[in-house]
Amino acid sequence: MSWLDIPADSPFGPENLPLGIFRTGDESPRVGAAIGTQVIDLARLAPERDEFGQSSLNAFLALGRPAWQATRTWLLDLVGDDSNRYALEPYLLPQADVEMLLPFEVADYVDFYASEHHATNVGRLFRPDAEPLLPNWKHLPVGYHGRAGTVVASGTDIVRPSGQRKAPGDDAPTYGPSQRLDIEVELGYVVGSPSRLGSRVSVEDFAEHVYGVVVLNDWSARDIQAWEYVPLGPFLGKSFATSISPWVVSLDALEASKVPLAKQEPAVLPYLAGELTNFDITFEVYWNGQLVSSPPYREMYWSAAQMLAHLSVNGASVRTGDLFASGTVSGAEKEQRGSFLELSWGGREPITVNGEQRSFLADGDEVTITAWARTPNGPRIGLGSVTGKILPAV
Ligand code: MN
Repeated sequence: MSWLDIPADSPFGPENLPLGIFRTGDESPRVGAAIGTQVIDLARLAPERDEFGQSSLNAFLALGRPAWQATRTWLLDLVGDDSNRYALEPYLLPQADVEMLLPFEVADYVDFYASEHHATNVGRLFRPDAEPLLPNWKHLPVGYHGRAGTVVASGTDIVRPSGQRKAPGDDAPTYGPSQRLDIEVELGYVVGSPSRLGSRVSVEDFAEHVYGVVVLNDWSARDIQAWEYVPLGPFLGKSFATSISPWVVSLDALEASKVPLAKQEPAVLPYLAGELTNFDITFEVYWNGQLVSSPPYREMYWSAAQMLAHLSVNGASVRTGDLFASGTVSGAEKEQRGSFLELSWGGREPITVNGEQRSFLADGDEVTITAWARTPNGPRIGLGSVTGKILPAV
């Protein structure tokens, strides 16, 4: 409950309170919290807290779980108790009047491949004559290290990448703008507390290290990817840009949307076992404004705690600002596929977008992905949205 006038269907109700970095006019960027259609200017409200006067959330993220929880308790009380009205009102700004920036400085970036539906679809499309899932897929959360420096804020234009591609029937590779530019609908996990080199993060310690989540679009050039990815995995087909949403929603805000992870068969090795959960999050993909897909996160095969346990099981440390993404979220149904590669079945079954037959992205196209978490009795917890427009190759 709140004394603020927040519509019941707002993504940013009084139980959510996501954090982000905003700017007004030519003032310096700083930390804010979203509430309804407004931003709480935390830097001005609590000037004694240095971590709020920063142009990234990293200083706040580095404080660790007790500080994250204390901050959440403080914010819940501020928006929930009518007696705080006059103290808080001067620090509320309309979201329409602020510019949202990249919420944190991305340290390392890892991308997983945790949806069985997606991995199966891609396996069928890229390796039609083989088993769709490779033998390791159900034993470990497959992933690769991506390019942190090209993770960009929502709203950043995406220049069509150029590169080498070679279709199966071609004699030799050619160079040029990607003809099969695509999206990947993903959930991104934001690491706050670091771990020590040589140690590993157990499944149980997940919430000690991870602060929250963002909506992520892993832009992908399928023609470049298909030619380059064997044997070392994704490279230039992925590294040109990854977009993330501006508001980081905490794991605490998502607590009520937790659901048990579906049973994994065969059983996983002990370091990946535990009480495993998933989130009941639904994405919506808008291609030039038209809803084309609604991928369900609750059907993901691997849990985020297993992803973090696996990426650190060799003793690799994690740092404040690390970002690891789930991999494309696809459900069992066609209208739940989280990439256009899958939606158009490799371009063979184009879909109708605003009256046109489409398989991949054209210059000028805009894609917006929104997400929200379902909770059993309470309101939806919105994750906001990530958007980007395609510019012609240079
Ligand atoms: Mn991806």
